[in-house]
Amino acid sequence: MLNPDNTFTATVLGLPRIGANRELKRAIESYWAGRLDAAGLHQVARELRTTQLTAARDAGLDSIPVGTFSYYDQVLDTAVLLGALPQRVAGIADELDRYFAAARGNAEVAPLEMTKWFDTNYHYLVPELAADTVFSLHPDKPLTELKEALALDVPARPVIVGPITFLKLAKSVDGSDLLNRLPDLLPLYEQLLGLLAEAGATWVQIDEPSLVTDLTAAEFDAVRTTYQRLSEVSARPSILVATYFGRVGAALSALADTAIEGIAVDLVAGGDADVAAAQSITDKLIVAGVVDGHNVWRVDPDHALPRLTGLRDAGVRVAVSSSCSLLHVPYSLDPETDLDARLRSWLAFGAEKIAEIRVLATALTAGEAAVAGDLEIARTAVLDRKADPRLKVQAVRDRLAALDADAARRTPADERRVLQQERLNLPLLPTTTIGSYPQTSRIRVARAELRRGEIDQAEYDVRMRAEIAEVIALQEEIGLDVLVHGEPERNDMVQYFAEQLDGFAATVNGWVQSYGTRCVRPPIVYGDVVRPAVMTVDWITYAQSLTDKPVKGMLTGPVTILAWSFIRDDQPLADTARQIALAIRDETVDLETAGIGIIQVDEPALRELLPLRKADQAAYLEWAVEAFRLSTAGVADTTQIHTHLCYSEFGEVIGAIAGLDADVTSIEAARSHMEVLDDLNAAGFDLGVGPGVYDIHSPRVPGAEEIEQSLSRALKAVPAERLWVNPDCGLKTRRTDEVTASLRNLVAAAKALR
Ligand code: GLN
Ligand code: ZN
Repeated sequence: MLNPDNTFTATVLGLPRIGANRELKRAIESYWAGRLDAAGLHQVARELRTTQLTAARDAGLDSIPVGTFSYYDQVLDTAVLLGALPQRVAGIADELDRYFAAARGNAEVAPLEMTKWFDTNYHYLVPELAADTVFSLHPDKPLTELKEALALDVPARPVIVGPITFLKLAKSVDGSDLLNRLPDLLPLYEQLLGLLAEAGATWVQIDEPSLVTDLTAAEFDAVRTTYQRLSEVSARPSILVATYFGRVGAALSALADTAIEGIAVDLVAGGDADVAAAQSITDKLIVAGVVDGHNVWRVDPDHALPRLTGLRDAGVRVAVSSSCSLLHVPYSLDPETDLDARLRSWLAFGAEKIAEIRVLATALTAGEAAVAGDLEIARTAVLDRKADPRLKVQAVRDRLAALDADAARRTPADERRVLQQERLNLPLLPTTTIGSYPQTSRIRVARAELRRGEIDQAEYDVRMRAEIAEVIALQEEIGLDVLVHGEPERNDMVQYFAEQLDGFAATVNGWVQSYGTRCVRPPIVYGDVVRPAVMTVDWITYAQSLTDKPVKGMLTGPVTILAWSFIRDDQPLADTARQIALAIRDETVDLETAGIGIIQVDEPALRELLPLRKADQAAYLEWAVEAFRLSTAGVADTTQIHTHLCYSEFGEVIGAIAGLDADVTSIEAARSHMEVLDDLNAAGFDLGVGPGVYDIHSPRVPGAEEIEQSLSRALKAVPAERLWVNPDCGLKTRRTDEVTASLRNLVAAAKALR
């Protein structure tokens, strides 16, 4: 029988793992490079866990997630737990090597595919399952980490990915319905619950973020039967099923029908309907995610506390929590001493969020007076943020309000095509690249020297110009038709613009894991967006001055800038998007005025921001497309607008791609074998298109014949007048020799077909 007093009041749903100073990233990369052995890597990992768990305990959390640590990814860890790694890595004897081979491949085997974790910028590895996958339990990791935490006197709550989410996120390699595999997985979960209880766990957290997506009737049934069945295990910890990243809706009542002990709900993303529904669940612990684990803003106590007390007064047992794992926010504000003090006071990163949760939990249990000082500070910050003039720049708002529908519209595409062709006089099947050229060691050295103050900005600019000159010369020599400047001056395609726009702030150490050892430092959009000065014109006009061929201006689109930033939570995303769109629009006009005839506005993240629930998707696509069009419709008909899309299955956004109305769209297709062209045709797309014919994700140099074949296939779907020839993404991760050889073949293929 479960102890009815087995409860807690303050927790988070998961902890970050990369290390406050990216220690784990460095250790893993050293291990890969052979500079650190497995024992050394495990030692670093143990130390990181120890520091973090004891810090969370000392900060006053009375239940702490354990097992959210990972060497690469929690979904891959779950595949290991369930014995579900693909056959092709099974032969690798060493456990760590096998794990990393599944994660990133090696000379012999391809890795698992990687894709976005719900609506975050974290990417997980996609398990490959089939009707005949044989599952088996390998509980070493959760058990070891549990024991380690208990030995530290940490109130540990093991966390595992739930069976429904695991199956829904996996890829069916034989086309079979993976939900049918649930009966084979459940005995393993039952066994694991027993083992965890035996090892001393009083609670277990089973993550089911999939429950915030649209579920079928069969899936709702699966929720009920799965959790009813797991609740019937005789000796087990109390079960907390964690949902997050959206409103849980009907799945909440499915969970409430079962005999589990707790449910975590994301009240930040979920909203009032979920709060109301949770109020009737009086026989379970409701872990109320009122502190945003997905964004960096300080919680408003006057928003969170009424929800918490409302639940309590309805007779619900409540614990205060982050809305999701803290994996998605930086560790701590401590290193951010460069941030504007006012802005800093509005923010909460991981450590600060834990403190907020403790304060709210105390206010809830002991009354506001017990934490009056902390609440006062929080309220002052929230009010100060609302009052800051940078959040409401009237000029931008007036300008947006005054725009008419025509601002986002160009003349019909076929008229533009004629005018642009007159101006540009391009050959049939024009060749081009996506923007970046290899990030050479010279570029990295210059950046490091600038950062360390060893060279000044002027010297840095001289060196970047030299890179540009080299890239232009290389492209001329290869014989490409539309050139790019190579983007050497850009650290990152979003950060580069964020640094130059008002309303954005950058952090010095605000790293979050993107995948594996790759971390990103998303900028923070905190205010109205204004472009105080031109951003790219000098670089592009310099590049254009070196050649008679057209050089593309290169910008990042509003949706992608938003998708890779921490966003404002005080106004609709669409409003922020329109402001960024205006800034990009002004830049396109300035490029045009400076004589640039082709401008590319990249939107690789168009698919990324697509809402998890179908019902919300159309509204998103409408404002996303509108923002892109606003960005690009300020130029004359003779200026050719390009866009670039990648990283995704385009199925759900194919109609929106047509809606962008870009004169030319370069789109990742090298790996999806051109199917995307048929999809575009079906959506009525009739603009210029460059399906990628060179897979830049691989070091392999494609032969001219192979590229010719790809193009011939493309010509079956697209008339030659509309077809462009280009790689499937930017070249910055490749080596110069690979790129040179591949582009020579690409040009040769285009010439042969002409
Ligand atoms: N213009 C960018 C580049 O070439 C596009 C990058 C991207 O698609 N992510 O690097
Ligand atoms: Zn790309």
